[in-house]
Amino acid sequence: MKLIFLGPPGAGKGTQAERVIERLGVPQISTGELLRRAMKEGSETGVKARGYIESGALVPDEVVNGIVRDYLLSDDCRRGFILDGFPRTIAQAEALESMGVHIDAVLSIEVSDEKIIRRMSGRRVCECGMSYHTEYLPPKEEGKCDKCGKPLVIRNDDAAETVAKRLETYHRQTEPLLDFYDRRGLLIRVEGQEKVEDTTALVEKALAAVGK
Ligand code: AMP
Repeated sequence: MKLIFLGPPGAGKGTQAERVIERLGVPQISTGELLRRAMKEGSETGVKARGYIESGALVPDEVVNGIVRDYLLSDDCRRGFILDGFPRTIAQAEALESMGVHIDAVLSIEVSDEKIIRRMSGRRVCECGMSYHTEYLPPKEEGKCDKCGKPLVIRNDDAAETVAKRLETYHRQTEPLLDFYDRRGLLIRVEGQEKVEDTTALVEKALAAVGK
């Protein structure tokens, strides 16, 4: 049960991963979330990552590989995991292979740039890690997290100019991974739907087809 969720920023990787881990009972590893936490704590990794994240670029491979390696080799991940937002470059995918980690399937959630730009303007997040959308996934009470009640905010890197840069980064650096995993027979493509639960149904169907 070692899965990778790929897709452009805002495709719903994190939200879908959250739903699948509930069923599978394995941890979700979001490098974006780990980096944002490091930034908040002001750790050395956080200080290194901030400039890249805020400009919509990728954090250098060696920084991200280091964070992931420690966690993947820990006891928490013995039964499996879902990687959400990692790998994002061929070098990261090669580093993952060299860690001796055997991936069962790679799910690519596909959404056009035009739809991504429309979606990102409605994304709201909580510091606890939960993510919402004003139109597609609203919280029960406006502006408040369902899980912890804290106020929801717009992520700094969801500003329109940064989203355009993040999409460009995705096409240039991450999209080549589709071919990398397709050649290994691991790639499953899922078309991202307007409604979260419709995408979840397709994700579950795709995972059932590979026996996960
Ligand atoms: P995300 O929450 O997955 O959209 O990630 C937010 C930002 O964190 C990205 O735009 C990157 O700057 C950085 N980031 C997250 N994961 C990675 C990764 N695997 N490699 C490099 N940078 C990353």
